[in-house]
Amino acid sequence: MDFDSHLVALVDVAARLVNAHTGDWARGVEHTPPTSSEDRIAATATALAREGGRVPRVTRADAELLVSRAHDLRQVFVAAAANDLDTAASLLNPMLLATGARPQLDQREGAWQVHFHGADDSLAVGWAAGCATGLALALGSSWAGRLGTCEAERCDVVYLDTSKNGSRRFCSTSCQNRTKTAAYRARTTR
Ligand SMILES: [Zn+2]
Repeated sequence: MDFDSHLVALVDVAARLVNAHTGDWARGVEHTPPTSSEDRIAATATALAREGGRVPRVTRADAELLVSRAHDLRQVFVAAAANDLDTAASLLNPMLLATGARPQLDQREGAWQVHFHGADDSLAVGWAAGCATGLALALGSSWAGRLGTCEAERCDVVYLDTSKNGSRRFCSTSCQNRTKTAAYRARTTR
């Protein structure tokens, strides 16, 4: 199955929500998920916009729902990264049901595309349904092994491995370099 760019975008947004709202460390630096309503709204809007995308208008209710979903989505990434697909599936199926995830044909730039909608067309329910569907389609395909959690010390970042050979172990080159340096130091100071 070809994991197309729309699905990559959904899993990327899922990872961004997880990384914004959960985790104690990011790339060796302490990470404190936002707690005030204003900060949660801003972090959610940034996660949904992706790199250079349009920043959506996020309400307080949208942000609260997606913060709670982010905690569930982290468990999916953690289980999948540990190759525990049974657990990942048992987390995703109730999420698909709860969000009312369903495919719908939408017209974009003159072509019909299959998008995933939720039980209602609110921003948060739509994205929760989309993220759960993206992860479900990844798990049920050859992309199952590409949901990752960074293996570096002091990093809780989750990611989708889009590399050619799918053997990424770190969220970033900074974590890869940090780990290499630490391993080198451990060898030379022994
Ligand atoms: Zn990392």
